[in-house]
Amino acid sequence: MFSRKKFILLVLLILVIFLIIFVPLILKVNEGQRANLSKHTEIIMDTTVEITTIPFDEKAVREAFNVIKETNNLMDDYKRDSEVYILNRQGENRVSPFTLEVVKKAINFSKLTGGAFDITCKPLVDLWRRAGKEKRLPSPQEIKEALFLVNYKNIILEDNLIKFKKKGMGIDLGGIAKGYAVDKAIEILRKEGINKALVNAGGDLYALGRGPQDKKWRIGIQDPRHKGKIVRIIKVEDKAVATSGDYERYFLINGQRHSHIVNPHTGMTVENIPMSVTIIASDTTTADALATGVFVLGPYKGMDLINSLSNIEGMIISETSEGMEIVTSRGWMQFQASDF
Ligand code: ADP
Ligand code: MG
Repeated sequence: MFSRKKFILLVLLILVIFLIIFVPLILKVNEGQRANLSKHTEIIMDTTVEITTIPFDEKAVREAFNVIKETNNLMDDYKRDSEVYILNRQGENRVSPFTLEVVKKAINFSKLTGGAFDITCKPLVDLWRRAGKEKRLPSPQEIKEALFLVNYKNIILEDNLIKFKKKGMGIDLGGIAKGYAVDKAIEILRKEGINKALVNAGGDLYALGRGPQDKKWRIGIQDPRHKGKIVRIIKVEDKAVATSGDYERYFLINGQRHSHIVNPHTGMTVENIPMSVTIIASDTTTADALATGVFVLGPYKGMDLINSLSNIEGMIISETSEGMEIVTSRGWMQFQASDF
């Protein structure tokens, strides 16, 4: 017969064996789940690009990063020997289907925004960048000369040949190429059979399918004046979200903040109103270009444009004398998290 003491000892022994065998197993499963969700990060196009797939798929993620790099190699106007670099230097260039597609789409967004979005803004962007470095404002004459070269209607397309009507013109795809690269990455992930993923290129992102725990992806929108603070959370599935702001990239001249986005009509940088524009759209190219275009249009004309378009929602944060003002489009609330 077992004594009571022996019985307790036996139960304890069984418990210890159970713990030794199963605790590491349980931990491993959790670790696996975490690994499935792990973000993969690379710096491309001056930006942190993050790709998350559920479950993690190394080959698909690698290919997605590759297409983003390829896009950047073709379209970065500062990269020696990129297609856009050569086009800007020679005034004409035969380009790949990728670059041609982005330029065609960019021209359509120029038409849609009445010229507020315009990739021929390069001479202006360069002028302001130079002035920023020299801590001075460009002279009215310099602005006039740059403006003379800015007009998307002076881009000529003949099959895969892109030409400029005026000598000295140049294009800058900085307001659209990141979104396009994200769309290309998502295309690759889809082809590889992934149906849950998030591709985020510095705030221009696409949420494919659902996120962790099969819930919609939760995206935080940053407070433009307080780094790290979130002003709103939106919940999305199969949607693109892009934000243009004056807080990530800007320069100071005489203590005044100048955003990296220029107004192609006035030649000036866009100041203070608005501070940030977030667009939700069906593809990232559209979200990226419209965020930049609406930033130029400002809160009133910009919000009118968003409300006039189907399948597009937006939020504009502006600075007023009373502080921050947040305006959202008519259908925005369907995406906003109610618990925030
Ligand atoms: P970010 O690069 O911070 O995500 P955007 O998508 O808004 O911001 O793109 C800003 C870039 O677009 C600028 O750095 C410049 O290269 C280019 N750009 C500036 N003004 C315009 C404009 N009016 N239309 C099109 N592109 C612009
Ligand atoms: Mg943009």
